[in-house]
Order: sequence, then C-alpha cells, then structure tokens
Amino acid sequence: MRATDILTLTPQGLYCPLGDFHVDPVRPVPRALVTHGHSDHARAGHGAVLATAQTLRIMAARYGEDFAGARQAARLGETIRQGDVAVRFVPAGHVLGSAQIVIEAGGTRLVVSGDYKRGYDPTCLPCEIVPCDVFITEATFGLPVFRHPDARAEVDKLLASLTLFPERAHLVGAYALGKAQRVMALLREAGYDRPIYVHGAMEKLCALYAELGVDLGEVVKVAAADRAKLAGEVIVCPPPAIQEVWARKFPDPVAGFASGWMRVRARARQKGVELPMVISDHCDWDELKQSILETGAGEVWVTHGQEDALVHWCGTMGISARPLHMLGYGDEGEDTGEVTGDLAAPAAAVESGETP
Ligand SMILES: [Zn+2]
Ligand SMILES: [Zn+2]
Repeated sequence: MRATDILTLTPQGLYCPLGDFHVDPVRPVPRALVTHGHSDHARAGHGAVLATAQTLRIMAARYGEDFAGARQAARLGETIRQGDVAVRFVPAGHVLGSAQIVIEAGGTRLVVSGDYKRGYDPTCLPCEIVPCDVFITEATFGLPVFRHPDARAEVDKLLASLTLFPERAHLVGAYALGKAQRVMALLREAGYDRPIYVHGAMEKLCALYAELGVDLGEVVKVAAADRAKLAGEVIVCPPPAIQEVWARKFPDPVAGFASGWMRVRARARQKGVELPMVISDHCDWDELKQSILETGAGEVWVTHGQEDALVHWCGTMGISARPLHMLGYGDEGEDTGEVTGDLAAPAAAVESGETP
C-alpha cells in the first residue's frame, strides 16, 4: 500500500483516511491521536483524543478536564485497531508521556515521531527507534551548527555559578512543560538538595510531574517566599520572566536560560543571558541523521523546522525526502526558533499557566 494512502496532509494536519483520525491536528477534529502535551501538538476541542495516560493528564492540567469530548489512554507498545489500520504508541524521549505513533496498513509502516530526542533525560522514557518504511520527523535543530552537549554538563555550569556567586539569585528560564522539570531533575541527580523555587507558571506542571512519579525534591512557589532573601537559590521561571520587573526583585540575579538555541552564543549575549545552558528536548543535527538511518526508512517526511538542510542530506544518502511545510507546529517553547520572541513575550501570558 502507498504511504500517501495511509497518511495525507489536510488543513487540520496529518490525516489517516483508513482509520479516520488525525495525528496532532492543529484544529479541532472528531478524532485525534496526540503525540505529547506541548500546546502546538495537543490542542483542546477535539471530539475524542487517544494519547498516553500522562499526555491526557497534561492536557487536562492545561485545558481543564473537558478538553475533549472523550479520551482514551494508549498503553505504550500495545497495538490498537483504528478502522483499517493498526496503531501503536512508543516512547519519543521528548517530555513526560511523549510518544511516537506507529501506523501500519497493508504491510506499510509509517512512524510519526512528533517531537523526539536522544539525549539523557531522567523525566521520561528514552526514545525507541522503530524500523519503518516512512519516518515523519521534525527538524527544529536541523542544521550542522546545532550540537547539543550532555545536559548534565550544562547543569554543572549552573552548580559552578552557584558556588562562585553565593550572593546572587540564579534565575533559569525554561519552558514550563518538560524543560523546567528536566533541569530540576538533573540538579537533583547532581546532588543539589536545596529547595528549588518556581514561578507560578511552572507550579501546576511540576506538581503533576511529581504526582506521576518524577522526583523533583522540595519545590517552593516564589510567591510564597520573600524574593529579596533568595540569594544563592535556584529559581526556575518561563524564559520571558527573566527580562521583566519580576526578575529584578531578586538579589543581583544571574539570568540563565536552558535551550538548544543557546548554542548560538551571539543570541544569548544579545538578550542578556549571562548563563546560557545548551539543553534541548529536540534532536540535534547528528541525532536527526542518526535516527533517520536507524529507522531504515526509504522515505522521510519533514514536518517543521529547518526542513531544507535535512531534506538535502537525505538526498545525499539516497533516501527520498520531502518537506511537509506544516503550519501550526513550533509555536511553543523551543520550536519557535526565535529567542527574541521567547524573551519578548509578556510574562503576564505565562502567569496564567500557559507558555507562549
Ligand atoms: Zn514538543
Ligand atoms: Zn513541536
């Protein structure tokens, strides 16, 4: 069976006519299969949602319990029939609950990876590569300049700064879903046992992570503390908050930012990020290439990001590839690609619990 008979591109997003469902639709649809909880992939208002139990919990935390007409939890590895196709969720290693969706019909297998990464992350299951005919990937960091170092080494920079500047508050800009908890968990693994202070926008998701079994240690709301007394402490906040009046009330704050974009040092400097940490929840250039080769796919579809370079590279490897130019993805967190946009967005928007 041809892959394009199994998945086609519609204005709502990728659609499977044989199973009558969309994957990560960008507009409300009757039936959605959702890879993970970031707001560009998981939207409210669908008739029914099939996703991992953790992703369903994250959606409920962000949108309210009535985020969809009906919901069904997909167990990792379990094959579920959807009309004339078989679907299966496997770990994507991106954020808690994130999954790739394997779709099979007539002996053809497609894998929609959603967002995924290969680097170490104690807050979610590692990415599992599934051999397939067609691999559908993002390309957020699909340029050779992007190389993500070990996240543990980046967190060591924060610990070194705390030792060097015990009189300064250390702010860490990090996206509310996934990145914030990953940084916190890495700090704990490195032996950091002070309370970690969090901005109001982080609180609900940190509590949910803890409830779902990710140990973040003692987490304290900034609102419950005297900001002037937080010298030498770590405060995790949404990236825009580090440039706001909010941030200036801490003692001589160090502005940190955990993002794959921090690889571009000029951007960090330009935005006044004193402590850039190159920590990404997406694959870097080498991981994208490695993952594509490991799937053995003869065909690659690229959803969003730096499509051109990746499509070109596939061509040099004899893999047929095409960009899907999918609109609507990449408007949360790192996917934006623009540090400017991230840092300029008003924190008022994120105070409500939503990242921009
Ligand atoms: Zn994502
Ligand atoms: Zn995304």
